[in-house]
Amino acid sequence: MLPDLVTPVHRSALRSIARVVDETATPTPQDEALQAVTTQLRATPALVLTGAGVSTDSGVPDYRGPSGSLTRHRPMTYQEFRHDPDASHRYWARSFVGWRRMAAARPNLTHYALVELEQAGLVTGVVTQNVDGLHAAAGSHNLLSLHGDLARVTCLDCGHLEDRPSLDARLEELNPGYAESIRLDPSQVNPDGDVSLDEAHVREFRMAGCRRCGSILLKPDVVYFGEPVPAERKHRASAMLDAASSLLVVGSSLAVMSGYRLALDAARQGKTVAVINGGPGRADRRADVLWRTPVAPAFLSLLDALDLS
Ligand SMILES: [Zn+2]
Repeated sequence: MLPDLVTPVHRSALRSIARVVDETATPTPQDEALQAVTTQLRATPALVLTGAGVSTDSGVPDYRGPSGSLTRHRPMTYQEFRHDPDASHRYWARSFVGWRRMAAARPNLTHYALVELEQAGLVTGVVTQNVDGLHAAAGSHNLLSLHGDLARVTCLDCGHLEDRPSLDARLEELNPGYAESIRLDPSQVNPDGDVSLDEAHVREFRMAGCRRCGSILLKPDVVYFGEPVPAERKHRASAMLDAASSLLVVGSSLAVMSGYRLALDAARQGKTVAVINGGPGRADRRADVLWRTPVAPAFLSLLDALDLS
């Protein structure tokens, strides 16, 4: 049971998780869309806002795609994680197993294409809603991870930050052979590195404490549903949008407010907004170009059209 005080936020987080994004606009014809985005990047260097659709080609599943993990698993809200010790213990047991797969993910063509576009001066920076670290691994320079990064862990009691590989080594020491004992269906890993695990395995798992204060209230340094994006990061996202002449949304339905707001702000500022995504999105009606396509092939065509391939 959650304390009464946090129940409304938790409920609102559940609504956000369950949000279904409907079709609201007609996609731009393919050839026209390629031409329009090519022209946009040449004329008005863009800030790029990315979501899960960019990482699915790296084997990181999304929540809302056709085979998205929401169909079988609801992510934990911040309120559950923070106020229910059983929930956070379950999270860490599952995440200890899922982390290996997340850590093995490598950037794909889209991540590298964005680096190339940045180097060519056609992309001013990348704001990502992903927490998988793949834009940084590919070499994006002006990069903001709006929702944090799974590669860091923070102590909710004292604020100490620890790298995930370091925590992972400590968990391995406390739980020798644990991860290997679990037969994992790779399709069952969720975007937050969480996997499904039976209760017996969850009970066996031993959690490590904070290296500074010993608390076991450790949390991946990512923004959970029901948790606000830190103000400093919101400001930086706005500043990055101010510094760009247009916005390119890639692989995101913008179902989550922090990303959606950036698209609304861009439209309000009269900047061109283009969307490259495989399905409908929340800002489709505000977009000047709506390129409905698998993401990686679109970037191959773009690099080609821009003579960057
Ligand atoms: Zn601590």
